[in-house]
Amino acid sequence: MKTLAAVLVDTGKPLVLAELEIPALQPGQVIVEIGFSGVCHTQLLESRGYRGKDAFLPHCLGHEGSGTVVEIGPGVSKVAPGDQVILSWMKGSGADVNRVVYRWGDRQVNAGGVTTFGRHAVVSENRLTVTPPGISPREAALLGCAVPTGLGAVLNTAAPKPGQSLAVFGVGGIGLCSVAGAVMAGCAPIIALDVKKDRVEAARSLGASHGFLVGLDDVAEGIKKACPGGLDFAIEASGRPEAMRQALSSVRPRGGTCVIVGNARHGERLDIEPMEFNLGKRLLGTWGGDNMPDRDFPRYAEIVRAGSLDLKPFLSASYLLEAVNEALDDLEAGRVLRPLIEMAC
Ligand SMILES: [Zn+2]
Repeated sequence: MKTLAAVLVDTGKPLVLAELEIPALQPGQVIVEIGFSGVCHTQLLESRGYRGKDAFLPHCLGHEGSGTVVEIGPGVSKVAPGDQVILSWMKGSGADVNRVVYRWGDRQVNAGGVTTFGRHAVVSENRLTVTPPGISPREAALLGCAVPTGLGAVLNTAAPKPGQSLAVFGVGGIGLCSVAGAVMAGCAPIIALDVKKDRVEAARSLGASHGFLVGLDDVAEGIKKACPGGLDFAIEASGRPEAMRQALSSVRPRGGTCVIVGNARHGERLDIEPMEFNLGKRLLGTWGGDNMPDRDFPRYAEIVRAGSLDLKPFLSASYLLEAVNEALDDLEAGRVLRPLIEMAC
């Protein structure tokens, strides 16, 4: 069986559409017909070469999507042919098979446990979750990375109590989901910061009580006014070291917590005054929101279904697979929040 996929042949160059031969399934693997794939900053960093040297070229890409199970390999019990599924880089229950090799003419193309930039993909059982009822395939695609990372960074990693204050630095796809998570957790005030006005407005419409434009507003003064005692929590979702430092400096002494979600470019460094730690501030990382997909994805689906997180702003930009490079360019330029690739022929 053959399929069409966007392959990263050389970093810094456009992805190449390639007709790949799908290999025979190993135990624990599943063939999924992809319906939709999200495009996130990870693929941007990978394809542009901003993650350092890439030892796996040429390789497939993409780590959040939705689709239909076509065929299951030996031992797979979590999904069955015909199931609608969410594809995610986050590992849940089931077999963990981390390597796939496709043939492309006389070349080999590498892939990991999950890829989504193609019409079909061989996926490891543990990267699949059956789509909960009431969730459309478009929405399901975002439940693979953007939604669980943003919500999980607040609900799992920060875990604020109702009434605690929280600011989100960088309200792109993931940051907006963090704002929604803060609303659900009952945080107050909720402060959104970004360089783009429309994003700050989107955060306000999702329930942020304050919004500041980085580069125009006096951010430190604005936070101080909105939250005189200093912030209980800051979530950094821009990937910029400068924002990370500012996020840490904005949380209150004695227990204020900063969670870094954003991905910086390879080689960038974070410069922090050690005094921040002597003041009793905490700096936390997060493994994409520290989710357990089998437990958390149905929970997040319920949040979407109930209307507490409106995914419409994320679903405005669809691209055909043939336009995948345009999707990456638009994401890099900040023209779209979250490009969605639609695989339908
Ligand atoms: Zn992602």
